[in-house]
Amino acid sequence: KVRVRFAPSPTGPLHIGGVRTALFNYLFAKKHGGDFILRIEDTDQNRYVEGAEQYIIDSLNWCGIPFDEGPSSTTDSEYKTTSSFGKYGPYRQSDRKDLYKQYADELVASGKAYYAFDTQEELDFHRKDHESKGKTFIYNWHNRLKLRNSLSLSDLETTEKLESGQEYVIRFKSPKDEILVLNDIIRGQIEIDTNILDDKVLFKSDGMPTYHLANIVDDHLMEISHVIRGEEWLPSLALHHQLYDAFGWKTPQFAHLPLIMKPVGKGKLSKRDGEKMGFPVFPLSWGKSVGYREEGYFPEAVVNFLALLGWNPGTDQEIFSLEELVQTFSLERVLKSGARFDPDKTKWYNHQYMQLQNDRDLAVKFEAIVNFKLKKEGVYSTKPDLAFTEKVISLVKERATFIKDFWELGNYFFIAPSTYAEKAVKKQWKEDTPAILTGLISVVEQVDAYTSANLEKTIKNWIGEEGLSFGKVMAPLRLVIVGDLKGPHLFDILEMIGKEESIARIRKAIS
Ligand code: GLU
Repeated sequence: KVRVRFAPSPTGPLHIGGVRTALFNYLFAKKHGGDFILRIEDTDQNRYVEGAEQYIIDSLNWCGIPFDEGPSSTTDSEYKTTSSFGKYGPYRQSDRKDLYKQYADELVASGKAYYAFDTQEELDFHRKDHESKGKTFIYNWHNRLKLRNSLSLSDLETTEKLESGQEYVIRFKSPKDEILVLNDIIRGQIEIDTNILDDKVLFKSDGMPTYHLANIVDDHLMEISHVIRGEEWLPSLALHHQLYDAFGWKTPQFAHLPLIMKPVGKGKLSKRDGEKMGFPVFPLSWGKSVGYREEGYFPEAVVNFLALLGWNPGTDQEIFSLEELVQTFSLERVLKSGARFDPDKTKWYNHQYMQLQNDRDLAVKFEAIVNFKLKKEGVYSTKPDLAFTEKVISLVKERATFIKDFWELGNYFFIAPSTYAEKAVKKQWKEDTPAILTGLISVVEQVDAYTSANLEKTIKNWIGEEGLSFGKVMAPLRLVIVGDLKGPHLFDILEMIGKEESIARIRKAIS
């Protein structure tokens, strides 16, 4: 059975790189009828950030990629996790901390790991000493016998040290002169010479396992079939393979996803790219709110955008529902090379998804903005109804990327313009404009069934009868109704705001 996990460390807000990893795991799991697991890797106490776990869960839920197993710690009632605990829990490594030691001990007993007593100062000394000779210090076969550990000391000395409570770590004994042949679904075969590997710490003096040990033990105990993670973990693959072998466990399959590159320039997207990193959900309590959710993105647009960051379907199709992504996704089509992160493309996606939204749903969301704006303008009485707002949206949505754009694009449906665009006035407002508009008022007054079609017919007739040019009438009329020369079909707007308001706006402009 396919079982995959997303295993973030709760060290800060989850950025798109992390969410993309989660998404690819989710898509792969769902495609194969498998399970998607969230595991919180919080063994590094120094890097722990309060609230980060919740933030991770909120992000996954907002994206609509819930996990099947994981910690159900959410307190955010708006984005309730659908997960149960699952039978492989607990899913937070700090809650599992007692179980790792025995595995480290097991490797020591079988001679595949050893105790090391070197202090930080000693290690620093060796590092500097090597550097001064132009070499890099690697704690491995090359010099481990010159250092302070259970391989260089006698059994008696080692036992004494352990019994006297001296601080120690447990290191993996990386073999000399071996070529490891590793497999990665995306990258193919990789060969690693063990001579360049260092004896990584598996268990720390604070009684906690390191990432490497906890990660392997948990992937084994949770019966993970495929490890899908970022390319930055590729250098750990050799060690992880060796650990599986050392325990005699079946090795899962690995797939390392390409790096996400900066929007411009060279290098991978990093913390220094700050807001450009694209956080899906960013709670205000973290400081500046720069989350996609807070900026008004549709989660479907973000997911669609992320899916194509390092993967492609092999066709020109760009718009995919989550369901379609599940159907189409395959690790074989994930690229090896870095994927450039393009924030503008996310906007493009949002615009596309805007067009797919139901106008009524949009209206419900937009109403809050309308009410707020009207209140700010001191207009309390004309609270528009939902059907009206919906109609406005249907007229302007073609040009909108975010819901908040509706106001910018269509405020004149709700409120008379208070200013008129200067450039347009200069160009379109002629000496005879007030007279023409005065004439127009009496025409408009005559239109009983105040519909777009009727208005168009009547006004056009009048223009013809008067021998006026179309532009001479319509441009100033648009100006006084909208405040600018923009907007949808003017007769639609007139119908929407009604006869009384149309006339009032014309009057106000010529008075
Ligand atoms: N805890 C690691 C991280 O923060 C997990 C890496 C892995 O998936 O093995 O990304």
